[in-house]
Amino acid sequence: MKFAIVSKGDERSEQIKATIKQYLTDFQLEYDQNEPDLVISVGGDGTFLEAFHTYVQRLKETAFIGIHTGHLGFYADWVPDEVEKLIIEIAKTPFQIVEYPLLEVIIRGKSGGIEDRFLALNEATIKTSDGSVVFDVEIKGEHFETFRGDGLCISTPSGSTAYNKALGGGIIHPSIDAIQLTEMASINNRVFRTIGSPLILPKHHTCLLKPVVDRSFLIAIDHFTTNYANVKSIQCRVAEERIRFARFRQFPFWKRVRESFVADDNN
Ligand code: NAP
Ligand code: MN
Repeated sequence: MKFAIVSKGDERSEQIKATIKQYLTDFQLEYDQNEPDLVISVGGDGTFLEAFHTYVQRLKETAFIGIHTGHLGFYADWVPDEVEKLIIEIAKTPFQIVEYPLLEVIIRGKSGGIEDRFLALNEATIKTSDGSVVFDVEIKGEHFETFRGDGLCISTPSGSTAYNKALGGGIIHPSIDAIQLTEMASINNRVFRTIGSPLILPKHHTCLLKPVVDRSFLIAIDHFTTNYANVKSIQCRVAEERIRFARFRQFPFWKRVRESFVADDNN
């Protein structure tokens, strides 16, 4: 088996990276940054997002695992103290795979210009540095509302505990194939009216955002933001591709949610 390690880059993460690399090589596993079967992220959830986007072209062939060197992570669920145990597990046992859904975003430009396709592990957000955004929101080919406000967030189930949560979105279990659309400060009055609640869309229910007022948009895919001008539409749906996690033990999602946001198990 071939493996790669993505580290946050701080001293502690680099040290753990070096240890894992050494031990796994001793166990006859091959370090291969180009075509790994297993990608180990050492850092935080932000590091995991980076690892995901580094290997996004190889999702079918690659499994991911995260070790957190900061506070408890959603994607990084092993702690540095467990590294040796984890190394033995990786070297000796065939691992189980758990899959989570992803978000597909297609950005189309006016006059057939750009067409960019992205996969997001957490979410896509659309904002502008230029006043408010105004979008016609279509769901499954039908006009749903005209949104005017600071922006929109479209998240995956595993991203529902990130930005989406701060916007008042619900937490969705990652075994559910869905995306969630949440509003950022919509303007609601007699002229503009939006639903106001987060919307949860199942697989195959595409959400299409069409700019009404021409602006340049700040479109963020997870941790990475790009400025787009002349946008015709932004299409969002549950992706066909999925992320695969290497699982060596149970760590139920709701337990993770509780430990992050409510209390750890000693309370
Ligand atoms: P960051 O500013 O370090 O991330 C913000 C926080 O979100 C960090 O504590 C990060 O954990 C955590 N996080 C990331 N993914 C998560 C998930 N799926 N569930 C729960 N918490 C999660 O920036 P970053 O590390 O590059 O992460 C980018 C993410 O930040 C974006 O995808 C977005 O979800 C989030 N964000 C949140 C807000 C907000 O809540 N108002 C605003 C902007 C962006 P680590 O410290 O372990 O990295
Ligand atoms: Mn971070």
